[in-house]
Amino acid sequence: MTGPDFVVDNVDNPPVTTRFAPSPTGLLHRGHAFSAMMGWRLARASGGRFVLRIEDIDTARCRPEHEAAIFDDLAWLGLDWDGPVWRQSERSTAYAQALERLIVMGVAYPCFCTRADIAAAASAPHGPDGPLYPGTCRNLDAATRAARLAREAPAWRLDVGAALARTGPLRWQDRAQGWQPADPQRLGDIVIARRDVGTAYALAVVVDDAAQGITDVVRGEDLFDATHAQRLLQALLGLPTPRYHHHRLIRGSDGKRLAKRLPQETLSAWRVAGQSPADLIASLNLLANDALWPPD
Ligand code: GLU
Repeated sequence: MTGPDFVVDNVDNPPVTTRFAPSPTGLLHRGHAFSAMMGWRLARASGGRFVLRIEDIDTARCRPEHEAAIFDDLAWLGLDWDGPVWRQSERSTAYAQALERLIVMGVAYPCFCTRADIAAAASAPHGPDGPLYPGTCRNLDAATRAARLAREAPAWRLDVGAALARTGPLRWQDRAQGWQPADPQRLGDIVIARRDVGTAYALAVVVDDAAQGITDVVRGEDLFDATHAQRLLQALLGLPTPRYHHHRLIRGSDGKRLAKRLPQETLSAWRVAGQSPADLIASLNLLANDALWPPD
């Protein structure tokens, strides 16, 4: 077996299933390589499975050439995956069924607000990523809601308060930070179905993590807060909860977060420049705690 040389200390543990779930909205960068390599190592060291899921629900921003580059990048890194590649663009029925269940449970409501409406709401509380949804459409009376639904396609939001009242307290496990009490309120009433594509990241990801039997999610710590809401969605939909390995973000030489738009940081640029995966791994300055902890 070839592949990047991480030390992973979980050989005596039961097989795990991990995934790499990139969005083909741009070229992958070194942070993606780090996630993919750690997920691959965790799975392979346990004799488990590593699956590839293309998160392409945002059809307006996804490009076939970016998907092609994902395959080239993974081949260059020496990472193989098990089973067919899943594409979220082919899974809309599963997402629609999950949304319908949440609507029937009374924990989702239609939202007609534009970005401008939300920005203009003076009282909007703030979360880690900016203003939280102020709840305007949660409070619409039934007649107004029905009239608007008859006229326009809505987005759908999770009524986090109603959902938590239903599930009670929840927790989830992070590799580095241990058990976390789930606090989905920190992102407010998130969108679970966009008006244009009929689903949204949080809903699609929990439906697919369960459908692909993912036991361990390896991803950057920029998604740590999103996990709280994903845990809530899992509880509502009766889905199992993976363990989470949120890893540090890989930064550029300027210390800033990598973004797909920085061409010199992309894996394609490294490949084209004739660099080897070993050069890339060396550039990641691996820390001792980047060895993945043994799952219980
Ligand atoms: N598709 C997401 C991204 O490319 C990753 C989602 C996840 O790992 O949960 O940022």
